[in-house]
Amino acid sequence: MERSTIVRVHEGLHARPATRFVKLAKGFESDVELVKDGKAVSAKSSVKLMLLAVKENQEVTVRANGADAIEALEALIGYLENPRAGLDDEAEAQSAANDAGQEAAPASGSVPTAPDGANRLRGVAASEGFAIGPAFAHFPPDIAGRGRVLRAEEIEGEIDRFRTAVGAVQARMDLALAQDSLSAGDRGIVAALRDIAADDSLTGEAEGLIKGGNDAVSAVITAASTIAAEFSAVDDHYLNARADDVHAVGRQICLVLLGQDDISLENIPEGAILIADDIGAWDLARAPLKRIGGVVCGHGGATSHIAIIARSHGIPAVLGLGGQVNALRTAREVALDGNAGHVIIDPDAATRADFAGRVEAAAKERAGLTIFKTVTPTLADGRIIEVAANIGSLEEIEAAQEAGAMGIGLFRTELLFMRHMHLPSEDMQAETYAALAKAFAPYPVIVRTLDIGGDKPIAGIEFPDEENPFLGWRGIRMCLDRPDIFKRQLRALLRAAVHGNIKVMLPMVSDISEVRQTLVLVDECTAELKAEGVPYASFDLGVMIETPAAVLIAPALAKEVAFFSIGTNDLTQYIMAADRLNPTVAKLNDVTNPAVMSAIEITAKAGVAAGIMVGMCGEAAGRPDLIATFVKMGLTELSMSPASIQRAKKAIMAMAAEG
Ligand code: PEP
Ligand code: MG
Repeated sequence: MERSTIVRVHEGLHARPATRFVKLAKGFESDVELVKDGKAVSAKSSVKLMLLAVKENQEVTVRANGADAIEALEALIGYLENPRAGLDDEAEAQSAANDAGQEAAPASGSVPTAPDGANRLRGVAASEGFAIGPAFAHFPPDIAGRGRVLRAEEIEGEIDRFRTAVGAVQARMDLALAQDSLSAGDRGIVAALRDIAADDSLTGEAEGLIKGGNDAVSAVITAASTIAAEFSAVDDHYLNARADDVHAVGRQICLVLLGQDDISLENIPEGAILIADDIGAWDLARAPLKRIGGVVCGHGGATSHIAIIARSHGIPAVLGLGGQVNALRTAREVALDGNAGHVIIDPDAATRADFAGRVEAAAKERAGLTIFKTVTPTLADGRIIEVAANIGSLEEIEAAQEAGAMGIGLFRTELLFMRHMHLPSEDMQAETYAALAKAFAPYPVIVRTLDIGGDKPIAGIEFPDEENPFLGWRGIRMCLDRPDIFKRQLRALLRAAVHGNIKVMLPMVSDISEVRQTLVLVDECTAELKAEGVPYASFDLGVMIETPAAVLIAPALAKEVAFFSIGTNDLTQYIMAADRLNPTVAKLNDVTNPAVMSAIEITAKAGVAAGIMVGMCGEAAGRPDLIATFVKMGLTELSMSPASIQRAKKAIMAMAAEG
């Protein structure tokens, strides 16, 4: 018995929806298959379903055979056509939270790999600060199977041993999931691994090999490689990343079979630099973070989970070193510069002294600055300068509060989209923005709408190949062309505004029509929410000033928006026509160039004349040497990475004291 339908599951049968579909299918006695393009797989295996790579709006057939085939078809077709029906809110919220934890695959190919010297490496500057300390190389050895052919009478016992090991791994993951200390993000990662461990694709494949006479460890390694290769072969970036998950689960099963434990980070010495090719966020989150002096990794980028954990714990990190990280396997000591992305292996005496000096100076400065945490920087004329934080995830809230942030001046929503295997739902976004608003109320939280382009592709948005992605279809341009995505974000923001002081700003604005079109969409969203009876509140809409065009039309823009926030990172690259990522033109990429400073001044004047708030959220906002100039221009809000907040407050107070 079979029925065909068009899949209405948003973004297709990726991780969570696949798990839900399987859960439904397993509730029926009948054999159930899902068929796409003539290929049929068991609907009771989430791994097989994911590998079928079913996308939204594709036609599939559900085939059921058994006593309850009619009921099974009805339920499964019902899910594919209307996936939200029958989901209670709590389950949905839980799965959304789980989805939030999917780690973005490391950005490959974007890392400068040329070493600066024999013992110097360059990677991605992922968490600022300097560190020098003993190297703690964390390269868990590869597990090799014994390659032994089992005698017929040994097979049953080996299968039992294998099943017990799988059970132990599942139990360990369930235990980890039950811990309150696990963050929502890390929970998602563990949940994804548990799904694979519980799926009979991997275990079935391995059992087949054991029955054929392979020892259990060899069988698991081969089975994991086979399934991982299938994930790697799918033409989908996010499914490719599942290959690593399969290997990780296979490794855990093998370790139990061998009676071994993975090398623990428990024994990392005080102040050591953790070096790894890749380290699971789960492992890092459980490590004694207070003892870790720095992190160096082959994988990962500035927005990876490891980077976020490192930043929120103030641990300097250089990631994305690729194969270069192998040069660190035998290092005794490592110095790292998390601001520039440099790693120095076994530094000489002069470098050692230089780094030791920087680390000490930084620690001394940090200690001296803590008194500014609770200071409200006030000028002689009584004007308050808001010193806010730039963050990109809920995990960073604590660091911002610890630093004394007076709200959030830039919440980069990209990570929310990049971490997911599909576009984040409206509910999930609303929850995230509401959590932010609540955490900082009554201070404002400025959420920037999605600022993404073809240089950072995300699942669910097809970007065209572009010669110049930085001048292409990105930020507000892309959002206005995809109202389905943009409206979901605007609706979520309207809903979250009920819970605190949410403001919204648009990135990459270069034409006034972009603001007007957005306002129309905001009105549409408001009307929809009202009609649906969903609680919402209005928000102030502002723009980032980060294109030369926005500077030149600032007086006109100021009449239509509630505030400006100057994005000096992009503004500098566009004013100077110097790529912000290209080290060869780094000299030109200088915010203090008179051309850029003049653009900032023009913007400030236009904002002040119109009586709207002018702030800054580019990196320059945290520079103590420039803060007085910006404040004199009329800026009243400066937003920066949490680590710069107390230094900035000190600079403003010093300026106020001078009068
Ligand atoms: C900027 O361009 O200054 C800015 C804050 O945005 P981003 O660095 O995210 O492009
Ligand atoms: Mg920008």
